[in-house]
Amino acid sequence: MTDRIVVVGGGLAAGTAVVELRERGFDGEITLLADEAHPPYERPPLSKSVLLGEKDAGSAILKEPAWYADHAVDLRTGTHVESLDLDGHRVLAAGESIPYDRLLLATGARPRRLALADESGASVGYLRTMDDSVDLRRRFRDGFRLGVVGGGWIGLEAAAAARTSGAEVTVLESLDLPLLRVLGPEVAGVMAELHREHGVDLRTGAEITGIKRDGDEVQVSLADGSTLTVDHLLVGVGVQPNTEIAEAAGLIVDNGIRVDRHLRTSREDVFAAGDVANADHPVLGTSLRVEHWDTAIQHGKVAAANLMGGHTDADALPYFFTDQYDFGMEYVGHATPGGYDQVVLRGDVQGRVFTAWWLDGTRVVAGMHANDWDAIDDVRRLVGRQVDPARLADDGTALAEVITG
Ligand code: NAP
Repeated sequence: MTDRIVVVGGGLAAGTAVVELRERGFDGEITLLADEAHPPYERPPLSKSVLLGEKDAGSAILKEPAWYADHAVDLRTGTHVESLDLDGHRVLAAGESIPYDRLLLATGARPRRLALADESGASVGYLRTMDDSVDLRRRFRDGFRLGVVGGGWIGLEAAAAARTSGAEVTVLESLDLPLLRVLGPEVAGVMAELHREHGVDLRTGAEITGIKRDGDEVQVSLADGSTLTVDHLLVGVGVQPNTEIAEAAGLIVDNGIRVDRHLRTSREDVFAAGDVANADHPVLGTSLRVEHWDTAIQHGKVAAANLMGGHTDADALPYFFTDQYDFGMEYVGHATPGGYDQVVLRGDVQGRVFTAWWLDGTRVVAGMHANDWDAIDDVRRLVGRQVDPARLADDGTALAEVITG
């Protein structure tokens, strides 16, 4: 009898899993059910090169539709999955009941909504999909006034693309610095300075009290009594995992679909991957849900191996990168507030060519480089290792000589 794998979701984790299944020689049936009208695509360009107008949105597509046809993958775009019948091994989508032997849930995440903005009737948007990116890009012109709620990754990358395209940009961040929770004050301060130097009106500690439409303009009121008038307001206040169908079907859901180190859910024949998966991490010794592009790729590969009966660990360390103006960085590891006790900076922080290291005692829990692309190998080598903090802090000591265990 033919082996049938159904993949729910049209993001990078889903797309990678399908490609990997065929590359690994899986010759059963594969059905890919994607909510959006597009085949799986990469999201990083949507807030970088596509938003800058340097690349077409189409360039972000992982594989063209012909690839799916050539590899006997039943790609169904614009298909919303309504429910799962885990006992009957079926997925209900668009009125059809689709049988599976093994199921991968890669349903991703959606933007957290800001009710004040949504209910204002003003020109408000989010940036998650290819269509969102194309819509936002179309608005950019000299003198266009963009307001951004949230100084997270979406907010800052969109701010950089808009400024580079000639727009006037104001970013409203509720904390004292953008990306404070992710990077800590030492590096978050560098990001704040970068944007201010490029002319962004970065307002921190900003509490929005009202948003209203005034003709074609958006008026934002803040708790300190100030106001902001813009042509469009982009909201980037984080995402929430799409867990509803999994939860309704009885799978264990806790900050995402809970999976083990092999990405297996509480059901033997159901796996979850990417933004939606809260997975046991065998190296970090904790469970974590990571919304990074690289995790979608790594999870997609691991899921494919295990859908085929393997026992591969999802053990890649979290990794992300950003490009904003002439500033680029790569980060490896997982430093949560309270999860480290010091940050060591090496190099030229003022000139924005440096490395940063988050230490829990003498163990490196995360590392990054800024504009020092050759340093990524050292970053990967040191994360997870014991080091001598004093030697690490000494620019004159080679990184290879700081490891103690
Ligand atoms: P995010 O990175 O989690 O940032 C959300 C930001 O909005 C945080 O700084 C948050 O501050 C702030 N915020 C929350 N509520 C707010 C409010 N009411 N008013 C003002 N600020 C508020 O999420 P995102 O930027 O929306 O990005 C969405 C997803 O895409 C994330 O998973 C992100 O990692 C991913 N992404 C990654 C990259 C990259 O890796 N280069 C690029 C783009 C997107 P608090 O910390 O106080 O909550």
